[in-house]
Amino acid sequence: MTNFRLSRRPELGGRIRVSFEFFPPKTDEMEVRLWETVKRLEPLRPNFVSVTYGAGGSTRERTMRTVGRMVAETALAPAAHLTCVDASREQSDAVIAEFIRMGVKRFVALRGDPAEGVGARYRPHPQGYSNGAELVAALARQGAQDISVSAYPEKHPESYDFATDVEMLKRKVDNGATRAITQFFFDNDVYERYVERVRRAGIYIPIVPGILPVHSFAAVANFAGRAGAHVPAWLAERFEGLGKDPQTHALIAAAVAAEQVLDLVERGVSDFHFYTMNRADLAFAICHMIGIRPVEEVPMVSASAA
Ligand code: FAD
Repeated sequence: MTNFRLSRRPELGGRIRVSFEFFPPKTDEMEVRLWETVKRLEPLRPNFVSVTYGAGGSTRERTMRTVGRMVAETALAPAAHLTCVDASREQSDAVIAEFIRMGVKRFVALRGDPAEGVGARYRPHPQGYSNGAELVAALARQGAQDISVSAYPEKHPESYDFATDVEMLKRKVDNGATRAITQFFFDNDVYERYVERVRRAGIYIPIVPGILPVHSFAAVANFAGRAGAHVPAWLAERFEGLGKDPQTHALIAAAVAAEQVLDLVERGVSDFHFYTMNRADLAFAICHMIGIRPVEEVPMVSASAA
């Protein structure tokens, strides 16, 4: 019998593109772990990888160093995240110019959260860019052509309503954004409805689902409320009682993420962005499941040696 399931087609891996998000390490130990992760994921040939930018530019040096090392030492295409928090336009422009000088061609442009943390009231720098859309315009002015922005399938928590939120996404696209990456979500119907909503608003850039493998349910549940992501009761039930059982927790996390990604594949999604939390295991396993295999570099053989 013919198998019509998209997620079981043998050629699936060739149709799917993935990207991986990392955060800049704070300590030497975290640095070692990050680079182990990068080296493990690099042969999966992601479309791009991205490095986050801490509140108020607190990680500016570390973000730059991490991105710089990716440019210099890997075959990866790194995207630098950038926020407007606590920066004047002049300072933001200088950071953009520095990234471009380093050879960075991709950016993820964000307004960012206040330095006091997610949920605190956002106050733009008096001489700064006040939201993601203005930062996109600044990047485009300096010649950036691959500009990702955020999108919120469940609406940004500060937004009055969905219409305001989608209007903000439209402004970002009008200013030069070429891709949106979503906040993480667990209900694929919510994502699908959101994509329909933005298409109706005349937005046609890719809306790439941001997938968060649940490395720690307690941490995710804690953060989700502030990030405006709903944690469904069924998800809580799957992790119930596993707080002190890391092995089973990891297996459930892999199963949950695989279930979500395979269902999105069935719905026709072909691009995925993984919030890796600087860990390779779950992202690698899910990529394997959707047909993405490591491609080893073939060493160059010189003519005389052949
Ligand atoms: P914007 O899109 O500019 O605004 C968010 C929403 O607020 C809008 O959709 C709109 O509804 C409303 N809004 C904003 N301005 C106005 C206005 N003038 N009038 C009316 N409504 C308005 N944070 C970091 O600190 N560093 C990172 O590296 C980082 N990476 C991220 C990557 C992704 C893929 C995502 C989804 C989020 C990331 N964040 C990061 C979190 C992000 O900074 C927060 O969600 C922040 O609260 C909003 O930033 P934004 O760019 O989405 O804001």
